[in-house]
Amino acid sequence: MEQYIVSARKYRPSDFRSVIGQNSLTTTLKNAIINRKLAHAYLFCGPRGVGKTTCARIFAKTINCTNLTESGEACNACESCVSFNEQRSLNIFEMDAASNNSVDDIRELVKQVMVPPQIGKYRVYIIDEVHMLSTPAFNAFLKTLEEPPEYAIFILATTEKHKILPTIISRCQVYDFNRIQLADTVDYLQFVAEQEHIVAEREALEVIAQKADGAMRDALSIFDQIVSYCGKEIKYKTVIDILNVLDYEYYLRLVDCFLQGDVVESLLILDDIINKGFDLQSFVSGLSSHIRDLLVSQNEKSVGLLQVSQSVRQRYLQQAKQCSPLFLFRALDLCVQCELNYKVSKNKRLLVELTMIKICQLTSEAEKKNDSRQKIGKIDTDDTSPAPTTNKDTLREVAASPQSQTEKPPHNILSGSKAGLLNLSSIMSGQADKAPDAANPKQPDTPQANGVDFTEDDLRKQWLEYAETVKELPFFYKYVTEISPKKDGNSCVITVVNEHQIQEFSDNRQQIESFLSQRLGRDVKLVVNKREIEISKSLSPQEALDKMKSKNKHLQDFTDRIGLDFDYLQ
Ligand SMILES: [Zn+2]
Repeated sequence: MEQYIVSARKYRPSDFRSVIGQNSLTTTLKNAIINRKLAHAYLFCGPRGVGKTTCARIFAKTINCTNLTESGEACNACESCVSFNEQRSLNIFEMDAASNNSVDDIRELVKQVMVPPQIGKYRVYIIDEVHMLSTPAFNAFLKTLEEPPEYAIFILATTEKHKILPTIISRCQVYDFNRIQLADTVDYLQFVAEQEHIVAEREALEVIAQKADGAMRDALSIFDQIVSYCGKEIKYKTVIDILNVLDYEYYLRLVDCFLQGDVVESLLILDDIINKGFDLQSFVSGLSSHIRDLLVSQNEKSVGLLQVSQSVRQRYLQQAKQCSPLFLFRALDLCVQCELNYKVSKNKRLLVELTMIKICQLTSEAEKKNDSRQKIGKIDTDDTSPAPTTNKDTLREVAASPQSQTEKPPHNILSGSKAGLLNLSSIMSGQADKAPDAANPKQPDTPQANGVDFTEDDLRKQWLEYAETVKELPFFYKYVTEISPKKDGNSCVITVVNEHQIQEFSDNRQQIESFLSQRLGRDVKLVVNKREIEISKSLSPQEALDKMKSKNKHLQDFTDRIGLDFDYLQ
């Protein structure tokens, strides 16, 4: 019976040429060998499974080959090459620092380094996962690394470059290995499949490559796993079943639903996905990736970042065209929020459902905004047009994005509202006239629409009415009630004392102006003045007193007489 060899070993590259996805790096190494410009220490960095150890082995073999090819590759025929290929060469020494990381291990290594090679020119010491060495071990190693014997070459490999001491890095030539591109992995899997007389759908190999995430070794072992299950024919459907990968069809369909604001259908799709046994968390991260893919598909420059099979590429591009960048950006943001909250959420399914509902509302909200803007335009010129939104829509909108309330034209939020729910300042007379509301019992008093100029008293009265509408915003409510506005023509002039108040009032300017304009029957503008306070709060009591004294000469006399004491004041 034929011996089974795993593909990752069977198809391990035997020369630089067959290393996948690291072209510039292998070329540099080959050139160094051809020009005999070898360093004594190399540091190979990069993610797992991308060929660091493989390259180190090929390098060791190549520099010992007695019959180098012109292109700087090992001949694979000379005695040295054969002994390397049969894994009996004494000129290569591999150590895994993950399990041998003590000072003693390094001392053992250093001893070995002192023994020159019997045959061949160089002895290569490969230390894998070198970042795992303990600090004393690192230090013990440093001396040898500084002054190695002529024949010794060290190749240190690590997945975590940032953990390597700078003193080590500065003594090494550093090579950064790339993650292997999806297309390269797929090509190689295709090659292996052909060698093994296996018929594989390209899409199926793409799923494998995606799952391997840039590591060829993983890709090949997944490939083996699939082959052992499917035999000589690898189909996309089988692969997504075995690997438990969610079909991209689901994501495409979901985004279609989002675009139509179809909450019901998207919840049903989610239910289907859950029933198939998919993990909710990986579903959300898959959805994020899908939206990210759509986002990069929108721009010619970034479309290269889209790593999907040719066959579905067109569908991604098409879907990307239907989405606005803002929609994708917000949807992605919601997905990321969902991922962040996932672990702490007690009802994970509800969290995911809520996220999808919010995404659905992104489009309907944007439409409505446009819509209502048009309608509001009409109201400005034509008072008879009906209130634009229904109560239901209003609630939905508010639930969707409470933070955006202030940007919205107040007409839109308001209409026929349940006052308790919508704490908004915008519980306004325009609509309240049509549907008198408990929140606005006094509103018949208003001098609205009779064309008579309002008085400062009217203004103050309405100002307090306005305050009632912002009761649920404690800070702002306090600011509003503490201020007594002045009338200046059609302007409502208020004086504030700090930047925070300025900010609050300018955030609410639109609502205040609408409210007052509606109530007072005039186009009222809000004017915010800042009062310069002479004694700022940052002055200490003594400084404040000194300042006051400089303005009022009698104060000194006064404080002396009453014996003013600061401890007491504070
Ligand atoms: Zn050779």
